Amino acid sequence: MSGLYEKWFEAYVKVEKDPRLVAGLSCPSCGRTTLRLLFVVHPTDRSLGWAEFWCGACRQGIFFSRVSVPAGAETVSAEERRATQREDFEVIPPMFSSD
Ligand SMILES: [Zn+2]
Repeated sequence: MSGLYEKWFEAYVKVEKDPRLVAGLSCPSCGRTTLRLLFVVHPTDRSLGWAEFWCGACRQGIFFSRVSVPAGAETVSAEERRATQREDFEVIPPMFSSD
């Protein structure tokens, strides 16, 4: 069985390899092509950061901390991130059940 988190994770693996794919990818939750991928980068090392991956339509998504930032990805610093009014999203938790 493939849960919702797994579908989001699979989508993230694709856009992590090539961030340009995010525009054409369907949201695992609602199916619309309104996904956003943003990396909040470390102040002294912009190749490290955390990833926020969410849907602008249904406002669901996932995030990962301490990831390496792929080339071509949209990035902001933590300060810029705080200064920007970013739409909040509901974080889908990983599921550990065996169903
Ligand atoms: Zn959605």
